[in-house]
Amino acid sequence: MPRLTTNSRALQLRAESFLPGGVDSPVRAFRAVGGDPPFVTHAEGAYLYDADGNKYLDMFGSWGPMILGHAFPPAVEAIHTAAAKSASFGASHAGEADLAELVTKCFPSVERLRFVSSGTEACMSAIRLARGYTGRKFVIKFEGCYHGHSDALLVKAGSGVATFGIPGSAGVPEETAMHTLALPYNDLDAVRLAFANHPGAIACIIVEPVVGNAGTIPPAPGYLEGLRTLTHEHGALLIFDEVMTGFRLSLGGAQSLYGITPDLTTLGKIVGGGLPCGAFGGRAEIVNFLAPLGPVYQAGTLSGNPLAMAAGIATLKHLIAHKDTIYPQIDTITAAIANGVAALAEDAGVKLTTNRIGSMFTWFFTGTPVTNFDTAATSDTAAFAKFHRAMLDAGVWLPPSQYEAAFVGTAHSAAEVDLILQAAREALSL
Ligand code: PMP
Repeated sequence: MPRLTTNSRALQLRAESFLPGGVDSPVRAFRAVGGDPPFVTHAEGAYLYDADGNKYLDMFGSWGPMILGHAFPPAVEAIHTAAAKSASFGASHAGEADLAELVTKCFPSVERLRFVSSGTEACMSAIRLARGYTGRKFVIKFEGCYHGHSDALLVKAGSGVATFGIPGSAGVPEETAMHTLALPYNDLDAVRLAFANHPGAIACIIVEPVVGNAGTIPPAPGYLEGLRTLTHEHGALLIFDEVMTGFRLSLGGAQSLYGITPDLTTLGKIVGGGLPCGAFGGRAEIVNFLAPLGPVYQAGTLSGNPLAMAAGIATLKHLIAHKDTIYPQIDTITAAIANGVAALAEDAGVKLTTNRIGSMFTWFFTGTPVTNFDTAATSDTAAFAKFHRAMLDAGVWLPPSQYEAAFVGTAHSAAEVDLILQAAREALSL
């Protein structure tokens, strides 16, 4: 049955009078899937509630941060306590080192780090640091990977850029992007060739170790090891963008899962417990190139914000204390959801490629195995859009694009598995 949308539609129209597309981030506008984007009034645990009184099972978790569910009580309390002491000081406070220490515990490759206010800033700053440290200009990134919307990284990017089928962005001068080499993911020969063509000029490789922004794409066996070896051989830095995978695939992210030590790591989403926060860090010798110790400038009025630090500390403390139960639990629940719907699709004769690592997954509407952006792009996005709308009407809110990962958190239990399988059974037969 179609859900009620009267109030959300009115709010969307009002928002459109002030905000382009009515949104502050493009994919929220539902252009790729159609239908009215629900306007959220509040959220709790695994559920979102909208302005028309609809309740949705949340399968995107604010695009990753809400691994412990919405309004996780210890985080709410920590934010309240911090807010009562002022939302921002613009001066040092103990919370910054407290959260930094927790991050370094989870990520042994991160000896020093700096907090910023978003994943975009983390990646942009990590690239500047890598260039400053190596004295080189070129950056290798991979097609379909998204590292935020800074100019140099908006080249063949994933996420909304892929969703809207645009190769990069207007407003990014060719000269700004000319030192960014975008190569196919999971293809080491392409990386070897790039190093051969630009000897001594490549500062770094930045990679989503497990891609989430072209939909979920795991690394082929040996791929991440190959990137590590090649960067070592050519004196370039390896940057793992773990904004999405950090604290999600394991406490220590993809680098711990795959046993690879990058030079720099970027973090976001979970690290701030849902508040605007990111971080970048790595070996002390490299990170100490940042001002005030070194020549690479980077700054932020709200960096290390006390509310974000408090929410991050509450979140990471919980993840650290319960890691032995949390990660196996979310893995099991996600497997039940991802594989359960895959089986239903097979029964219904719908071609689906299911990619899953731990608590992130994507159902690609294609019969082709998805190993890079080109194979992800074989998906039938119209079929995905129809599925998305049917699921939303049945009370399940999937990420509103084929080129995004779905996320599961600790608030998803067996009841939520049943709910989603029941919804999918109907949606796939429509
Ligand atoms: N890197 C990755 C891997 C991401 O998934 C994202 C956001 N989805 C970013 C960077 C940018 O983070 P933010 O939206 O916080 O700027």
